[in-house]
Order: sequence, then structure tokens, then C-alpha cells
Amino acid sequence: MNILVSTLPIKPQKKTSIGMSLAPFLTSLIGESFQIKSVLSTNLLHSYDSYGEWLNQYVSDLNKLEINFSDLFVDEFKKDILLEQALKIISSNLVIRKKAEVLLCECGKVDVLKSSIRKNQDGDNYYIKDGKIFCKCCHKECHEFHSERLYLTLNPEYMKEVSIFPNFYKKSMAMFYEQYKNMEYMISKERKTGYNVVKDGRIFSLDIDFLWMNFPKVFKEQEQILIASNHQLFEMFLLHYINSLEDLRKLYFVATPYLKNPSSLNLQEVFQNKDALYQKLCLLYTLKWRCNNSNWDMSMLKGIGKLSLEKRQQLEHYISSYPNFDPSNIEYSLQDYFVNYLNYQSNLQLVRKGNNNV
Ligand SMILES: [Zn+2]
Repeated sequence: MNILVSTLPIKPQKKTSIGMSLAPFLTSLIGESFQIKSVLSTNLLHSYDSYGEWLNQYVSDLNKLEINFSDLFVDEFKKDILLEQALKIISSNLVIRKKAEVLLCECGKVDVLKSSIRKNQDGDNYYIKDGKIFCKCCHKECHEFHSERLYLTLNPEYMKEVSIFPNFYKKSMAMFYEQYKNMEYMISKERKTGYNVVKDGRIFSLDIDFLWMNFPKVFKEQEQILIASNHQLFEMFLLHYINSLEDLRKLYFVATPYLKNPSSLNLQEVFQNKDALYQKLCLLYTLKWRCNNSNWDMSMLKGIGKLSLEKRQQLEHYISSYPNFDPSNIEYSLQDYFVNYLNYQSNLQLVRKGNNNV
């Protein structure tokens, strides 16, 4: 089948929390249930961090949870292809050179167009205090410079509707569209990223995010399901635009609910010494796809813990073999699988009835 499912490239961390295994788990599960290729995509292309040494640990943590993939993608190993794809866009007239006011911090992580600050899409990197902008990483105040950079113009001609599940995020995508159409998005940085590109005779240091966002082009599959947290909606929007310029692939995004712990459960203790299947079932059935956030719920965690191993294995068989996958209607299949097919109460009833087909 000409379809794959992948995580958006994930930065491995020193320690893998249960929440960090959510997108990889769903990727592996969709791969199995829909019988398509599954890829764990990782992001090591950040020159100021050494995530590399944590990659093996991350993969091994996921393996311990019995989360497996057909393929592992490491952006750093494919940087030549990524750069080649990025250069294609840079040489087009969609990328322009422009001098404008930018805000820079000492460590270089904050490097944003001053006029984009209020729109707060780069909010991950900075915070505003007493009307001043500070870097979340080095905590130094950001200063203003008049500086020339490369910008990608967001031309409405190429901005197509984004396929995303849950459907209510289409509204967020439409908002990004309204906000960004005909705007320019900065794709070169002040600091040395290690990737120099030339535009009209001048060298620029290419933004790493712009580089890895070309990753769907590395795969031959023309239809791709991409899974990430709903905290990455803007990245999905931008990645979709960058890949629409080529008009070859069809991307389907899945934005997972954000896992919250309002009753401050000690999750480490809850999951300690529990088998992989228990952890995965808890993760899956905690998700509430109609909301932005899903709360860990002790009564459900206890309930799953009380099920016999046999019943849990029956659930595992059920969740990983979705019979209604329709390759000609991926958007519908995702919706049907997550909302109708996976439902804790009704899945449990099937198991309790001892339905042999489960
Ligand atoms: Zn900084």
C-alpha cells in the first residue's frame, strides 16, 4: 500500500515519560491496525543540543513498552535530501530576502521577527515580562536588530485545506490561514545552524525547522498520516504548506489530546512494575478525542488493572485489528477508528461477553 504513518520528528529526551510515548504508540498502533508501514521519525538536527546520545535510550524505552515500527527515520542521516528539498524552495520566488527588525537573545534560540511577537506563534521560545521579551532558555532579555533574513511567503495559491483529525482542529488551521496568508515566515537565523544556503549571492544560515519540515519528501509513500501532540498545530500547518508546494503527497494529520494530571497522580508509581500492555491500554483509553485535554483517571487505571491478562490480550487483539480501514478514505477511517471503534466501555463489553471475534 502506498500509505505510511509516522510521528512528526520527535526530539529524544534523557528520560521518556509515558506522555512522550503517546505519539509513537499511536503511530505503531495505526501501522498494525491499518496494515500500513509505520515510522518513528526523530529530530536530531539541532546543533545546540546533543539529543543524539539519547536516541538509543528513547528507542529502547519504546521497545520496552512493546512499541515497534517498520522503520526509524533520523533527520540527521537524511540531511542531504532535506537540504536538497529545502534548496528547491529557496531558489523559487516564494523565498525572498528582506531587512526587518528582529529580536535576538544571547543564546540564539529566540530569533523572531519583531512584528510577529504579538501573534505569539513562536511562544515556545520566549516569554513577555514587564513589556520586555525574554528567552525561555538563557533567560536573557532579547534585543532588537535590523537584520536581513530569508522569508518564505505564504501564498494563498498553494495553501490548501489541511486534513486533520479531530475535525475541530480544522478551525485552528483556518485561523492560521487567515493570519498567515500573504505573510512572510522567517526561515534563516542569525546563529550558525551549520546549514548555509545562498540566495542571490548572499549566504544565510538556514533555520533547522524549515529543513526538517521537508521530511515527508524523504518517503516514497504518497499518502502519509502524521501524528503529533495538539501543541504542534502550527508546525503541522507550516509543514503542510511546505509540502503543498510540491503537490505530490497528501498528508493527514492526527493531533493527539494533551495528557493532563489534575489529581496529581504519581504516574511513575502507578506504572512501575506494570507490564507494557497495561500501560498501553491505559494510554489509549485515557484519550478523549472530543476535547483538547485528557485527564489521567485513577478509576479507569484501576479498572484496567483488574482485568485478567486474557481479557487484556483480547483487548489488544481488538485494538490492533481494525477491519474497516478504507485506503480510499483515510480521513474517515481515522475518525471511525479513534471515535467509534475504540471505546473503553463498549470494547470492555465485547470482552466481557467473551465474544470470540474480539
Ligand atoms: Zn536565549
